[in-house]
Amino acid sequence: METKDVILDLRTKSGLSQDELAEKVFVTRQAVSRWENGETVPNTETLKLLSKLFDVSINTLLGAPRRLVCQCCGMPLEDALISREKDGSLNEDYCKWCYADGTYTYHDMDDLINVCVGHMTSENFT
Ligand SMILES: [Zn+2]
Repeated sequence: METKDVILDLRTKSGLSQDELAEKVFVTRQAVSRWENGETVPNTETLKLLSKLFDVSINTLLGAPRRLVCQCCGMPLEDALISREKDGSLNEDYCKWCYADGTYTYHDMDDLINVCVGHMTSENFT
């Protein structure tokens, strides 16, 4: 999906009019209309607001041009797995296990391995 379709989709699913969305992210209704027509894309600051409002990553808003991977453990990231800062905004560099509430979960590589091994071991994976 392209940005225009993503925004239209998120807006209609949220039951917001173009006016209401515009008000929430401090732009004009015309700006929202231009995004949805594909004439322009939101600027970085507005993308951050949209990300927070709709609870999706900026990568998703941009039509998922990048394949997000956790910079700590290497796990491919879908929106549900992305870590968050203390204020609830998404940190698209890390998964929610490696980074939570604005801090890194692990102190060193041994820590990381201990936690990962705990998650990975199961009856059919020794
Ligand atoms: Zn990770």
